[in-house]
Amino acid sequence: MKEILQKSAAEQSRMIANKDITATELTQAALDRIKDVDDKLGAFNSTTGEIALETAKKVDNMVANGEKLPLLAGVPLALKDNMNLIGSRTTASSKILENFVSPYNATVTQKLLDNCIPIVGKANLDEFAMGSSNENSAFKKVHNPWDLNKVPGGSSGGSAASVASCEATLALGSDTGGSIRLPASFCGVVGMKPTYGRVSRYGLIAFASSLDQIGPFSRTVEDSALLLEVISGHDPHDSTSLDIPVEHFAGHLNDDIKGKKIGVISDLMTDAVSEDVRKAVEHAVEVYKSLGAEVVEVSLPKLKYSIGIYYILATAECSSNLARFDGVRYGHRTANPENLIDLYCKSRAEGFGDEVKRRIMLGTYALSSGYYDAYYKKAQQMRRLVADEFNAVFQKVDALISPTCPNTAFELGARTADPLAMYLTDIATICANLVGIPAMSVPAGFDSDGMPIGLQIMTPQLKESELFNFGYKFEQENDFYKQIAKDVALCGV
Ligand code: GLN
Repeated sequence: MKEILQKSAAEQSRMIANKDITATELTQAALDRIKDVDDKLGAFNSTTGEIALETAKKVDNMVANGEKLPLLAGVPLALKDNMNLIGSRTTASSKILENFVSPYNATVTQKLLDNCIPIVGKANLDEFAMGSSNENSAFKKVHNPWDLNKVPGGSSGGSAASVASCEATLALGSDTGGSIRLPASFCGVVGMKPTYGRVSRYGLIAFASSLDQIGPFSRTVEDSALLLEVISGHDPHDSTSLDIPVEHFAGHLNDDIKGKKIGVISDLMTDAVSEDVRKAVEHAVEVYKSLGAEVVEVSLPKLKYSIGIYYILATAECSSNLARFDGVRYGHRTANPENLIDLYCKSRAEGFGDEVKRRIMLGTYALSSGYYDAYYKKAQQMRRLVADEFNAVFQKVDALISPTCPNTAFELGARTADPLAMYLTDIATICANLVGIPAMSVPAGFDSDGMPIGLQIMTPQLKESELFNFGYKFEQENDFYKQIAKDVALCGV
């Protein structure tokens, strides 16, 4: 592997600006790396080398002309395959969209292109972003770069694995209940979900619209803050987009956190948490104390309802959002329908995978007359109560910490037969989506098998700069983030 690929995005940007390397060389190195390792990893559904090299060339011309480069120009990025990029297929890892070519750019994609960030490929995911292990992709599994027999986490497993294995320096994922943070923790990289409304959802294939949010993957906290700056901002195409200025999120990375108050969520430090993960969080507590922060235990008793609330609301919203895939306007259409209803039924039956079907059925049930009040309305009410509880705690603390997941990456196949066990993987992450607050997973150590552990940090709505500050201060006190996924490195390429 070319050494340049192991550097942070900030460093790669500096090197391009200083003419130490051209954007074309860097992009080509990433594309070569994908060619070398991705048949083992499965992180990409497709590559977009031509688009990436065209962007890189623009950067090199700007450098040659002495022009000022936009933020992160020339740094290779992987785009989760549920975001539209003209000239690429956007499949959501579903058979129903297998041959769907993006007719327009997502707002985030346009922002990446405007900043001359080369998009090297479309990253694999769980079908329609439904899953926690990336095993629900209709096309292929993603393998964890630290141990190819283990899952990378989901649903943005391809995005996380591509960054962990240096196939890309940056990636975008989407997070509805943990789909950025969980794979980030399993793959030992930084994954961040912004405040709901911070980043436009226009051009992201919708799963559960009141929870979906796009966010960055990177190997350092600084890079995460820089990429968020590129992709955030008000967008009239998304009615839930917040009309607030874009901040320089990396502006407070190194601020002193002396005297800040951090709450450890006791409800997420139960016996369900593995010994190694618990120790890593306890170590983080010591690090924060040594930096002068005050660490207290806090309890959020309603947090335990998050999974139940989520699997009613997310399925209800997805049953409605996925109604558009009916064989008429998008994607797969059955071969010989007998009539219109038959066309709808067969196209959907042939195109959707089992987990997606399960969610559509659950959601349709929860929304049907007679059950709406008992399930959907109750879940909405409970969502409000969970949010109230978080907001009350944030009157007392500046940030909350917990494990990102009670366990580290598990073996491929270990949870596929038990949907409930799979759903419980997200016990610590879903609450941030229900409440709409920013949250991040940062590398926090390794378990006894050498698999990465993630620390989750959450702050109140719109406090991303503070979130990055807490993440950066912790990161700089250890060298977990400097280690490169060993299984892929050991592949000898
Ligand atoms: N794992 C959760 C689910 O299966 C969350 C997915 C996500 O955040 N997109 O729904």
